[in-house]
Amino acid sequence: MLRLIMKIRENLIAQIIVATGGIMLVATLILIYLSITFVNTHTVAEHVITADMMSNTIKLGLHNAMLRNSRDEIDQIIQKVTEINPVTSIRVYNKQGEIKFSNNPEEKDTSVGQNRQICQACHASQTPKTSLTRQERVREFYSDDKGHYFSVQTPIENSAECSGGPCHFHPADKAILGTMDLVFAFDETDTLVSDYRMNLIVLGTIFFIITSGGIFVGLRQIITRPLSLLIKSSRDIAEGRATKANIPIAARPDELGELARSHEAMVQALHAKQKALNEKMLEYELLFDNVPCVVTVQDRDYKLLEYNKETRDRFSPFPGAYCYQAYKGINERCEECPVEKTFQTGLAHCSEENRRNPDGTYSHWIVHTAPIVDQDGRVTKAMEMCLDITERKKLEEKLKESEKKYHTIFNNVPNSIFVVDNTTLTILDCNTTASWVYGYTPEELIGRSFFAVIHPDEVERIKAQMQAFTAINQVKNIRKNGESFFVDVMQAVSSHSDTEYLLVSTTDITERLEEEQLLFHAGKKATLGEMATGVAHELNQPLTVIKSASNFFIKKVNAKETIPEATIATLAREVDSYVDRATKIINHMRDFGRKVDQSMELVNVNDCVSRAYTLLNKQFESHGINVQWELAENLPPVMATPDQLEQVVINLLVNARDILEEKTDAANSDRQLITVRTMLQDSHVLIQVEDTGGGIPEAIMHKIFEPFFTTKKVGKGTGLGLSISYGLIKNIGGIIHADNGEAGARFTITLPVADS
Ligand code: ADP
Repeated sequence: MLRLIMKIRENLIAQIIVATGGIMLVATLILIYLSITFVNTHTVAEHVITADMMSNTIKLGLHNAMLRNSRDEIDQIIQKVTEINPVTSIRVYNKQGEIKFSNNPEEKDTSVGQNRQICQACHASQTPKTSLTRQERVREFYSDDKGHYFSVQTPIENSAECSGGPCHFHPADKAILGTMDLVFAFDETDTLVSDYRMNLIVLGTIFFIITSGGIFVGLRQIITRPLSLLIKSSRDIAEGRATKANIPIAARPDELGELARSHEAMVQALHAKQKALNEKMLEYELLFDNVPCVVTVQDRDYKLLEYNKETRDRFSPFPGAYCYQAYKGINERCEECPVEKTFQTGLAHCSEENRRNPDGTYSHWIVHTAPIVDQDGRVTKAMEMCLDITERKKLEEKLKESEKKYHTIFNNVPNSIFVVDNTTLTILDCNTTASWVYGYTPEELIGRSFFAVIHPDEVERIKAQMQAFTAINQVKNIRKNGESFFVDVMQAVSSHSDTEYLLVSTTDITERLEEEQLLFHAGKKATLGEMATGVAHELNQPLTVIKSASNFFIKKVNAKETIPEATIATLAREVDSYVDRATKIINHMRDFGRKVDQSMELVNVNDCVSRAYTLLNKQFESHGINVQWELAENLPPVMATPDQLEQVVINLLVNARDILEEKTDAANSDRQLITVRTMLQDSHVLIQVEDTGGGIPEAIMHKIFEPFFTTKKVGKGTGLGLSISYGLIKNIGGIIHADNGEAGARFTITLPVADS
């Protein structure tokens, strides 16, 4: 029974049938019941009316016989009436309850008393009723043998005819004289009603069966079959046996047809969505599978539910394996487990781990874990993504080592190095050498302007030159204690992470400069030595003139002769002019031999070249060396230290003199020519010294600027002249180079024109 109920609950059609069948059954039963009740009531009512009519008719029939007091006639009528079916008895009672007439002669003149039910209709109250309704007059009862009867009581009223009649007349004040009780047998009617009821039940049952059957067949045809088709189609689609809903009832115009069409449309939409979903799923599966790191999905017991290709390739896991088995080949959970943290907190985690591989080697991993929640928001799974960074870690270690190495190098290079912001020229970093050289701690230097280490006198020049040159020579710097010193500055632009830096290196050249100055001074002394003969010769002439004048005066004084005033004046002027000349030569030599400040100034090249020559001209004359001057006019000045430039020119002239002396003889003495040129070329001033000494052999051309290289005789050459000259010219931002001209060597000094 329970199973039947369960089955019905699972079956819509069965439910509809049970519901409609139940309703039909109840309706049919109610109809049958009402029909039977109606028939019963109607039949009874009809019988009562008929009986009442009949009773009144009999009463009327008996009326005349009673007036005439014709007892026989009354008995006859009563006997005749009782022959009429279904009348079973007629009794006429008087007011005292005596049966005066009856179809049963034995009852005649017997009394039933007023307590009988029939009498109680009127005599129940103190004052007997004089009229009764039909309902009050009718009585239904069953006899001892279960016979079913109705009796109708018809009161016999007093009337003028009765009270004034010839018979046993009744007093006129009596309203009711007696009553007539007509009894009908109801069995036959009962049988009819019973048959009718039976028929009604049979008809109702047949009606119920037919209508239920009809409804069942109709519902089956109209609803069950289409619904079954819809259900089958849905199942086929759900279980992947079909991709299209093909339901024949879709053509129907009714709601089910509409439902089928909607179902088809829904299936199509679902199919399209499913297709897109499948494609996306495939895409994600591919993505998941091909992610180039180890990805697994684990349950709360740390069992692998899913894993990608990288995991398969690296660890060869088996379905249901514990993650620690797969990853590490161990049988116990790891002490530190990021997945556990995710399960505990419900949050994503990221950590770095050094893991032992199943083969015993070690790898370094970045591990990301993320929770996977179910529909109720519970963390039921976790995703673990591991990226092998072993190689990166090794590289990082190497990088750290290398960084350490380069940091050590950076700090210990002998040059000071500053990392400077290219825009603001703020010091961002510096090496230990810088902090040591400048006397600041790195913290004191970082954040300061780079110009804090430049001597205030140089700041403007350096500001300008830093924008134009990568190398700036001989820059005066200042230490924290105020001490100044010279450096060469090299700078390079470097960029890192979209920021441009300036790497500035400074090399302390103070010592070198001092040495150079010493060397330069020594060179000058050598030059002075070289020039001594010429100078002596030069001084000799004024001294001869002065001596002649003094001899003349002594002679005149000894001879006590007077000297004419004009002669004294002439001689005095001569002496004065020659003293001036000697003083000039001596001053020049003194200036030249003195240690001078090496600061640069604007220099007129032509003046410098001429001054250098004045120290040598007498020598050249005595050696028969001709000098040809080709000086360009209106040359712009250059920035240089005049002494040094003069020293270089002297070196070149001395070398030219030496080669001319060495290579020429009296035969071609007319060819001893030195040409001195100055010219302007591409915003540079050029000084050229060219001789006719035969030139520099190609074999030694590349060596002549090397220190201590000389081809001169021992004791004559030092091999320092050109190397010092090279250094001096470089210091003032120029270049010197040698080549061979038509008849001899040609040295060219190129100096940048001083900018405004
Ligand atoms: P030194 O003059 O003491 O030899 P330098 O450095 O001035 O030293 O010169 C180096 C060498 O260059 C000379 O010894 C010589 O061989 C060569 N040299 C210099 N000037 C000339 C020149 N004008 N013509 C040929 N050779 C020269």
